[in-house]
Amino acid sequence: MALEGDDIRQSSTKPADPSENGSAEDSSKTLPKGVVIGKDGKPCRSCTSFAQWAAQAKSSLKAKTDSPITATQKTTTVSDVGTLPADCPPDVERLGNSTWTLLHTIAATYPEKPTGMQKDDLRGFMATFSRLYPCWVCAEDFQDYMKKDKLKVEGRKEFGNWLCEAHNEVNRKLGKKEFDCSKWEERWRTGWKDGRCD
Ligand SMILES: Cc1cc2nc3c(=O)[nH]c(=O)nc-3n(C[C@H](O)[C@H](O)[C@H](O)COP(=O)(O)OP(=O)(O)OC[C@H]3O[C@@H](n4cnc5c(N)ncnc54)[C@H](O)[C@@H]3O)c2cc1C
Repeated sequence: MALEGDDIRQSSTKPADPSENGSAEDSSKTLPKGVVIGKDGKPCRSCTSFAQWAAQAKSSLKAKTDSPITATQKTTTVSDVGTLPADCPPDVERLGNSTWTLLHTIAATYPEKPTGMQKDDLRGFMATFSRLYPCWVCAEDFQDYMKKDKLKVEGRKEFGNWLCEAHNEVNRKLGKKEFDCSKWEERWRTGWKDGRCD
């Protein structure tokens, strides 16, 4: 479902800086909820949920083909849209889920007593990660979080708990249930005590 830059208008609650991409005019238009514009001025797939992306794409297509429907009329609701096929570029949710899996698994395999070099590697990785994360709105909030609550690299427990709290901060922002951080090792390292992961 290809989308061109002018098929979707910006709707980010945190719009891209128009001075960076020359889209000052776009940022003032009325925009569909949930579709985030990337720093290049085009819709950002990895910042947007598939449901919003697909609903908008269908709406836009219908507006083009069905006269007299106009581009501002929404003809497809989010609930009309299925799930993202497995072999498509990730939306914000699939990217996030996969990324948390990687991050928590790094925590689970991080040494209890890391060497100086391992600590430096983790610091370097997290700093780079927070700048390169493809959902730029997510990345900026995560960078803010890392300024507020300094990364802990002293050992597995410290990093694992720090990461669990960081994930909970995102959970709160999205209105999701908080995770009990006393259970992060069961979830990500040892498997649950009831043995269902063994
Ligand atoms: C750094 C980062 C920032 C993000 N920022 C945003 C954002 O700003 N906006 C947005 O829409 N999405 C954001 N996401 C994506 C979002 O966090 C979720 O990944 C996405 O909504 C999919 O959620 P999910 O229900 O699959 O569970 P996820 O939140 O992806 O969690 C995966 C699994 O981790 C476990 N888990 C949940 N919480 C914790 C925790 N605190 N500690 C340990 N394990 C836990 C649970 O078993 C859960 O099933 C971000 C992702 C990352 C990695």
